[in-house]
Amino acid sequence: MAEKQTHTFQTEVSQLLDLMIHSLYSNKEIFLRELISNASDAIDKLKFESLSNDTMVEGKEDLSVFVEVDKAKKTITITDNGIGMTESEVNKNIGTIANSGTKKFLKGMNEKQAQDSNLIGQFGVGFYSAFIVADKVTLITRKAGAKGKKGIQWTSAGKGKYSIEKVDCPDFGTKIVLHIKDDEAEFLDEQRLRGIISKYSDHITVPIMMVKHSEKSDDIEYEAVNKANAFWAQDKADLKQKDYDEFYKSLTFDFEAPLTQLHNKVEGNLNYTSLLYIPSKAPFDMWEPKRKGGIKLYAKRVFVMEDNEELMPLYLRFVKGVIDTADLSLNVSREILQGSKVVDTIRKASVSRILKELEKMAKNKPEKYATFWKEFGMVMKEGVVEDFSNKDKIAKLLRFATNKSDNATQTATLECYVKSMQKDQKAIYYITAETYEAAKGSPHLEVFNKKDIEVLLLSDRVDEWMVSNFGEFDGIPLKSIAKGDLEDLDSKEDKKEKEKVAKDFEKVIKDMQKILDAQVKEIKVSSRLSESPSCLIADENEMGGNMERIMKSLGQDVPDTKPILEINPKHPLVKKLKTKVDEDLVNVLFDQALLSEGGQLKDPAEFVKRMNKLIN
Ligand code: ADP
Ligand code: MG
Repeated sequence: MAEKQTHTFQTEVSQLLDLMIHSLYSNKEIFLRELISNASDAIDKLKFESLSNDTMVEGKEDLSVFVEVDKAKKTITITDNGIGMTESEVNKNIGTIANSGTKKFLKGMNEKQAQDSNLIGQFGVGFYSAFIVADKVTLITRKAGAKGKKGIQWTSAGKGKYSIEKVDCPDFGTKIVLHIKDDEAEFLDEQRLRGIISKYSDHITVPIMMVKHSEKSDDIEYEAVNKANAFWAQDKADLKQKDYDEFYKSLTFDFEAPLTQLHNKVEGNLNYTSLLYIPSKAPFDMWEPKRKGGIKLYAKRVFVMEDNEELMPLYLRFVKGVIDTADLSLNVSREILQGSKVVDTIRKASVSRILKELEKMAKNKPEKYATFWKEFGMVMKEGVVEDFSNKDKIAKLLRFATNKSDNATQTATLECYVKSMQKDQKAIYYITAETYEAAKGSPHLEVFNKKDIEVLLLSDRVDEWMVSNFGEFDGIPLKSIAKGDLEDLDSKEDKKEKEKVAKDFEKVIKDMQKILDAQVKEIKVSSRLSESPSCLIADENEMGGNMERIMKSLGQDVPDTKPILEINPKHPLVKKLKTKVDEDLVNVLFDQALLSEGGQLKDPAEFVKRMNKLIN
């Protein structure tokens, strides 16, 4: 082969290019951050691979990134002696948007939004940011250690097409030549570039070299323009909050400072340094199964891999940072990580530090904790179920809205709940619903409001799953107020009274059951209701209406279970049934109960007809 081949970008790439160029004009300089971060990744990868195969570096010792400007040709060239790419890697990596989260994110957002929020810069737009300042980009690359000195040249004007050809390539690694647009000439200034590099890339551990200008000699000399230190290896005492914030930003590309950080040096049986951050905002891809890892693992300051699964439990996936250990061999693979005692110990210690930090924050900086809870509360709830060994600690960090709070903000703790429980109360009561309003307005709450008993109002998606796996807190079980009997709420007199009323309604209930046979399993006289005429409940061990609706919306097969209908014997509409068990009225009582718990009517038109008939 020799001739040039032309390819077309994936459509997403063209869309991304367009969006990027329009939304980043206040932040164009990030192109350099992106290209340098790729170059440094490539060098990290090569260092890592050459540990097991030292022919890969072809005798080269210094691995670094070079940034050069040619004013006459109007180019900026970024060269790395990193791992390089094969032809198929170029096609795969440079012709597609690898990160599926990015794609999804772009779909849900228009140009204006992206621009306003500055969001697009936050997740790293990658290689294509080159086209913000360049109208033509040439990338020449050769895989380190490849036989023959042939490389690949990729060229594109960023307009939907790119070409690829084989070229001679004496050096391994990647060279990227940006042909700068006429109106972006400001970037052809070396001082400007040095400024950008120290802003974004000071903490990149690879040296970034630029030409050193000296008057005396004509030889070209280079000097490193970034600090190239391992930030986390520095002494805590020498670091200011500002430094921590800056490192965080260069690590995550987040524009906002983190909520807090934990910096620990551990020496002894195990030797490692961890610098972990809790961001102030949930990342856009927190719910994306394919999101990128947030923890970078280093072995003796050599980057090993970016990972979340082994180093952090899933529910702490928002934690970002660095773990650097001297106790892992450098050629560790993901498989080795999975079974590693070292990793396991580091992970356990990190989790417990994070939980302790959160506990401290909740106690000493409640406002900060409120921010944390708003952003990450939903994920923390997963932890109660996922991390059994820390369940009690996590449970104490949970915050809830209850029937005693003024609004939907989740502030109540389980500890407080238990402290203010009533004398004979045997359970922590909760109700689940699709929204806070639906929970708050639920007829099931009536008796609890009347008796001034606190009930947790749960309306986050994870709640159903969490409570059904929760077990006990402080030895007290959680109990849904929409399931089973509420025996323990009734006093002896109440029970007697209930039996009497039940007898009274025996005949009514029998007739109702005939009418509603297809919809309900049982009809009972209720002690839950004081204002509403009826409500639905589930059997103690059934999933309940809300859970059923969630499962269905997730496309799950749900066994059809019939609810129990409870009626309020003191309500005038129910009393009316004693004179005549009217079919329309009975149906309306059922439909109302279903509606008020957020269910959907099978036949809304029929309901309206019946209502109108009754009103007449
Ligand atoms: P990301 O860095 O988030 O993966 P990019 O768009 O920046 O996304 O880069 C896409 C991919 O292209 C990288 O993952 C890498 O495989 C490859 N790549 C980019 N630049 C280089 C480079 N200088 N050397 C080797 N591979 C590179
Ligand atoms: Mg990148």
